[in-house]
Amino acid sequence: MSDAAPDARLLARVDVAPGLAFFRLGLSTPLEPREPGGPRFVPGQYITVGAIAPDESLVRRPLTLTDASADGLEVELLLNRVEGPATAHPLSHLLFTLAPGAPLFARPVATGRFTLPDTVGAWAGRVLLVASETGLAPFLAMARYAPQADLQRLTLLHAVDDAAHLAARAELEALGLDYRPWLLPEAGPLDGVAEALAPTLAAPLSPEHTQVLACGLGAHLEAVTRALFPRGYVPAHRRLRKALGIPLEAPAALHLEQYDAARLFAHGLAIGPDGRVDSGGA
Ligand SMILES: Cc1cc2nc3c(=O)[nH]c(=O)nc-3n(C[C@H](O)[C@H](O)[C@H](O)COP(=O)(O)OP(=O)(O)OC[C@H]3O[C@@H](n4cnc5c(N)ncnc54)[C@H](O)[C@@H]3O)c2cc1C
Repeated sequence: MSDAAPDARLLARVDVAPGLAFFRLGLSTPLEPREPGGPRFVPGQYITVGAIAPDESLVRRPLTLTDASADGLEVELLLNRVEGPATAHPLSHLLFTLAPGAPLFARPVATGRFTLPDTVGAWAGRVLLVASETGLAPFLAMARYAPQADLQRLTLLHAVDDAAHLAARAELEALGLDYRPWLLPEAGPLDGVAEALAPTLAAPLSPEHTQVLACGLGAHLEAVTRALFPRGYVPAHRRLRKALGIPLEAPAALHLEQYDAARLFAHGLAIGPDGRVDSGGA
């Protein structure tokens, strides 16, 4: 049993669809800025959240901030109740059982480098954000906090297997970025995203014009990598670069944030004569 005292509580759960919700948490200590005087979180960062399981163990997982109050005492998360958990007391299941006021644990430090400054940096070209399901979380934060000039160079593709999972759709449509819902059953798998999207984008889908950030489960990130590699996109992912024989110092234009621990391209990589990437036996 954990002897740590709860330092957060659930303020509210705002349902989007069955098993998919925004969670608002109250923290007892405000989020600490990464650098003194800096923002309390940089959109794209996550915090570690925990809850006590029925066996009294403390279950903790990283969850991306979709928002935080100016005083750092309230944060918002977007979470789905996972269908195939890997553990006996999955946090995503525990959170959906809690009532407002329930005690939680939350380290009040936003962390992670899947942010616009840490990925594209001073890049002034277009940025394509590819989210699958709750992989929307970092991009929702980025869209909410982007200055107007930056919003206009963002395209956000949100891939979901059910239209009811298009969280924050109305808000994103109103923000003024180029927002593209992508229904996996109808629009097709993410492997086809580059071909379908490229002719409709404001700039060519090539690393010289458009950098790409993708977030979600490993299988989706593989699909996005397969779709973009033939167009010259080099992932900022050391193991993938090694596997593809790409020098580590080559500039990256594809930035990945993975939610699960699945090994990307675990079945190996094969590059066909057309330059397409295949994931071996997968
Ligand atoms: C940096 C980072 C940020 C994250 N941010 C978010 C977030 O904002 N929202 C969010 O919902 N999840 C997020 N996750 C995933 C989250 O940390 C947990 O892995 C997830 O909630 C499942 O934990 P669990 O204890 O319920 O399940 P566990 O018993 O730990 O089972 C883990 C398994 O669940 C599956 N899984 C993990 N995440 C998801 C998911 N999002 N959707 C469907 N299946 C999943 C995978 O198969 C994984 O192996 C993030 C992960 C990382 C590494």
